[in-house]
Amino acid sequence: MDSQRRFSVQTRLFLLTALFTWILTFTFFALQYSREREYKTNLLDSRLQRVNERVLDHIAAGDSVTPALIDSLSSFSGDTVRLSLIDFNGNVIFDSGKSSSEIGNHKDRPEFKEAMAHGHGFTRRRLSATSNREYFYSATRGKTLVARSALPYNHSLATMLQADPVQCYAILAVALILTIMAWFATHSISRVVKKLRDFANEAEFGDISKYDSSSFPDDELGDISRHIVNLYKILQSTADERDRNLREAMYEQRDKERIKHQLTNNISHEIKTPVHVIQACLETVENNNLDDDTRKSLIDKAYQNVKRLTSLLADLSVITRISDAPDQIQLEPVDVTAVINRVADDMKVFPPSRQMRIHIDVPEGVSVNGNLSLIESIFRNLFTNAFNYSGGRDVRVAMTDETSDYYTFTFADNGIGVPPEHLNRIFERFYRVDTGRSRALGGTGLGLSIVKNAVLFHKGKISVENQYNGGLKFTFTLHK
Ligand code: ADP
Repeated sequence: MDSQRRFSVQTRLFLLTALFTWILTFTFFALQYSREREYKTNLLDSRLQRVNERVLDHIAAGDSVTPALIDSLSSFSGDTVRLSLIDFNGNVIFDSGKSSSEIGNHKDRPEFKEAMAHGHGFTRRRLSATSNREYFYSATRGKTLVARSALPYNHSLATMLQADPVQCYAILAVALILTIMAWFATHSISRVVKKLRDFANEAEFGDISKYDSSSFPDDELGDISRHIVNLYKILQSTADERDRNLREAMYEQRDKERIKHQLTNNISHEIKTPVHVIQACLETVENNNLDDDTRKSLIDKAYQNVKRLTSLLADLSVITRISDAPDQIQLEPVDVTAVINRVADDMKVFPPSRQMRIHIDVPEGVSVNGNLSLIESIFRNLFTNAFNYSGGRDVRVAMTDETSDYYTFTFADNGIGVPPEHLNRIFERFYRVDTGRSRALGGTGLGLSIVKNAVLFHKGKISVENQYNGGLKFTFTLHK
């Protein structure tokens, strides 16, 4: 709206250029006109001067000035020259137009004064006091007299003294052509400006990532415009990326909060049960007269729940450490082979009914720069799970690949595996396939979550699958 009220860039540029062109043209025209007039005036003056000189020559030769002489000397396009002879005091001693006795003194006439001073002079247009007509006067000083010839300043003389009209038309035509050229020049400049304005509008309200800047002209203005478009595109894509990152950070933050909230609920739920059991057992033991066996079984139950609480708190502290303060976890060279052997050895404490045959296929001295207790928890949880849940006979740990940066391990049993619909959730916190069995066996639902987080902490990846011939197989990497 604003731009409609104001003059457009093209109009302003055009007006300015046209104004400049016309001022130049008129100045040139005025100069040319006055030079032309001056030239023509001088031409006429010199012709009249020649007449004067010839009259003065005749007088010097002793001839008298007769009308016939005047006619023979001076005929200018049909007009007869009026001739006056004036002595140096300004007295007209002869005039071809009137009797000299009727004519007053001429010493104040400008052409006379100039002739007296410089030898010759002229007056372009003056009303004659003698004849009351307008004349063009030219005066020449002789030895004793001033000869002055005058041509009536009529229409034909005025036209003759005027500048050539063809020249005026030519100058006007040139000015017109320049104005038209100015219009085209300003139009092409304003096209770029308009295109830039359209681009700015589009940039303000839309997506300009696909804006085509090739239509700008192939000159400096076009180059500048293309630069502006490209810079803006970079700016917009940076802003888009920043917005995207912000959005992602926001989603991540919300996700974190949701998970934290869920975790808090889960934790309080997981803690409540053993705490209630412990409370109930201890209250019963305290308030009733119980026989030794019942009392012992109640204390035993409370003790089991205290153990459950302890392992829950231990697992929670590991998870919190990994997710909230990973920078504070110390790194050191860890002999993974030794860790596997030690944990495998610890599995002997399991009752014989749940014992499995352990096969370790890991070369000696496989070592990573990592955290001992986290690497231990990876294998301890995997072994414990296999022993508790798989129901299989064998468990195999192998190092299957080594690159310059990573070791790849597999951990497999030949048990029942996990139903496929649970498979992609078993790494979630507190996720259990068989809740009752897991609790009964002292599982916290955090084991595999700890395994996954510990692997991630060591810049590795972990996946799980059911083997085609039965049993669960974990594959994971650890950064060296
Ligand atoms: P928990 O700490 O209670 O043992 P986990 O997170 O370690 O929980 O395991 C999640 C669930 O995955 C367990 O409840 C169990 O049902 C299942 N699971 C884990 N390992 C195995 C396995 N080797 N064979 C069969 N089921 C398994």
